[in-house]
Amino acid sequence: MAELVDARDSKSRGGNTVSVRVRLPAPYTKKAVYFMNADCIFCKIIDKKAQATIIAENDDCMVIKDIAPKAPIHYLIIPKKHLINLNELSAKDAQLARSMLLLAQKVSAQLGTIPFKFVINNGKEAGQIVFHMHAHFLSGRNDHLSV
Ligand code: 5GP
Ligand code: ZN
Repeated sequence: MAELVDARDSKSRGGNTVSVRVRLPAPYTKKAVYFMNADCIFCKIIDKKAQATIIAENDDCMVIKDIAPKAPIHYLIIPKKHLINLNELSAKDAQLARSMLLLAQKVSAQLGTIPFKFVINNGKEAGQIVFHMHAHFLSGRNDHLSV
């Protein structure tokens, strides 16, 4: 059960929900406190309050199967910190960004160093529908392998 330690209004950032600061249960306690969004499906998955098929995980990110796959292999690489998208990323999130890329490399290696596409839909007009930053790991379909 996540412990509520702080609360703040996210309206000023364009959201219509209240962001809460939670202390995550083990094994996430190692990296201490992340900002979570109470109404965010990916925050719920990271907090194990919603179900997902977990493929891999490190201190900063989780990799899950996409619920509606658009390729034979379609995973989502999700930072544990709630950032709306890349626009919110700052220099202090460098480790998180590095983790996302290294997890993509690791997942590919585990599957036999398969070719894959790493996609971030950044903003509604770019096709983003879940406003918790994430990358798509897509593989197994040739028409996904050229931009
Ligand atoms: P976006 O368009 O925001 O880049 O992609 C969001 C992705 O999240 C979509 O491919 C969608 O199928 C996936 N998705 C949305 N809700 C859930 C969910 O509850 N569980 C999982 N595993 N994937 C989800
Ligand atoms: Zn979130």
